Amino acid sequence: MAATEFQQTVGKIAGFTGTALHTGEKATLRLHPAPVDHGIKFKRKDLQDEPTIDAKIENLKTVERATTIGEGSVRVHTVEHVLAALSAMGVDNAIVEMDANEPPIGDGSAQPYVDLIKKAGVTAQEEPRKFFDVREPMHVETKTGALLVLLPDDKFRISCTQAGPNNQFTQFLSLEITPSIFEGEIAPARTFVYYEDVEPLMDKNLIKGGSLENAIVVRGEAVLSKEPLRFSDEFVRHKILDIIGDLALVGRRIRGHVVAVKPGHAANSELARALAREQTRRSAMSAPRAIPIGDSGLDTSEVMKILPHRYPFLMVDRVIGFEGENKITAIKSITINEPFFQGHFPGHPVMPGVMQVEAMAQVASILLFKLTKTSSRVGYFMSADQVKFRKPIFPGDTIFIHAELTRARGNRMAKTKCYCVVNDAIVSEAELMFTFLDK
Ligand SMILES: [Zn+2]
Repeated sequence: MAATEFQQTVGKIAGFTGTALHTGEKATLRLHPAPVDHGIKFKRKDLQDEPTIDAKIENLKTVERATTIGEGSVRVHTVEHVLAALSAMGVDNAIVEMDANEPPIGDGSAQPYVDLIKKAGVTAQEEPRKFFDVREPMHVETKTGALLVLLPDDKFRISCTQAGPNNQFTQFLSLEITPSIFEGEIAPARTFVYYEDVEPLMDKNLIKGGSLENAIVVRGEAVLSKEPLRFSDEFVRHKILDIIGDLALVGRRIRGHVVAVKPGHAANSELARALAREQTRRSAMSAPRAIPIGDSGLDTSEVMKILPHRYPFLMVDRVIGFEGENKITAIKSITINEPFFQGHFPGHPVMPGVMQVEAMAQVASILLFKLTKTSSRVGYFMSADQVKFRKPIFPGDTIFIHAELTRARGNRMAKTKCYCVVNDAIVSEAELMFTFLDK
C-alpha cells in the first residue's frame, strides 16, 4: 500500500501580469489558497458579482486551438497551461483569479505558472487526495487521426507521439509525470502553431496578443521563434503539457498510463469526459448494502417530518446516509402494490419515468432541507435537465437514490445531480433545480 497522499493548496496569494493572447490586452492572474475538496475554480474579477467557473469537464465549451470553459454566459479561455501547471505541481485546491477572460499567455509554455506556484508555495491539507484509478483499458479516437489509450498503472505516465503535416516533426517521448519531471522536462515547452492555421486568425485580428514571443511558428520546413528551441523535441513536450492540462478537468489525480498518438484538445477532452463519466458510474454504484441505523440516516417517520408527501406519493422509504453536507443516499423499495402499476402498464408493470424524477426530487429536497436548516422557507422544484432513463424498474426492485448538491446561490437557488441505481446500474439520472420561497 502506498502512503496516503494529502490534498494540497497554495501557501499564499501570488500573481503576475502579462498579455492575453486573444485580446492583446494586459491580464493579471492571482492564485489564492482554497479549502479541501474545493478543486480548481477560475474567478472573473472583472465582471459584476465576480462569478466563478469550476475547472470541470462538465463546463467545457470549446476546444478550438485552446480549451475554453464556462458557466452561463461567462467564459474563461486558454485554461490548459495554468491547469497543467497546477495539476502537475500538485495543487489540488486553488482559486485562479483573473481580471480578464483568459490568463496572461506568458511565453506560450507553463513556465510562468510554475514560477508563480513556486512563489506561492504548496502546502498539505488534512484530507486525502482523490484519485481516478484506471481499472481497464479505455480509449478515444477522433476522425482527425488522434488516438488516446489509457492503461492501468500505479503512476501517472504519458507516452506521446506527435506528428505534423506529412509526418513532419514526428517526435516521441515517454515520461512519468511528477512535479520535478514536469518542471524540468515539460513546463518550458512552448506552444507551436502552423503558419497556415494562424494566418487567417491574424488577418481577422483574433490573436492580437500572439507573437513569436509566445509561440513557435512552423512555416513549411522552417521553425520560427524568438529564442531557439528549448528542446530538440519541444513539440511533443508541449503536446504532453496540453494532455495534462486537459485531463486536469477530470478533477481527480489519474493513476494510469496515457498513450497518445497525434493528440489535440478535442481528443484530450473527450478522454477527460469518458473518465468523468466512468467516475460518476463508480460513485453511484458504491451504494452500501448494509443499511445503517441511528444518526447517519432517517427512518420513514423522520422522512415524513421533512417531506409533506404522503401515500401514494411519498417516494422515499428511508435515508441511508449523508456524505458531508452535499450528498445523500436514500432507498425506495418498489412493490407490485404501487398504485401506478395498475395502469402502467397492465400485464407489463414498469415504473413511470416521471415517478423516478419525483423520487429524485424528494430525496434532493431532504438534502436541501438539511442544508438550509430552516422550516420557514420551502424549496420548489423548478426544472429538470439532462433527464435520462436507461433501464426499466420492475416490481421487486430496490432503488438507491443519490442526490448531490452541485451548485447553490445563497438561499435562493440550488442545483442537484441525481441518480437512481438498481442492481449496481444507473437506471435514470437528472439535474434538478430548486428555488426557495418563504412559506
Ligand atoms: Zn498548449
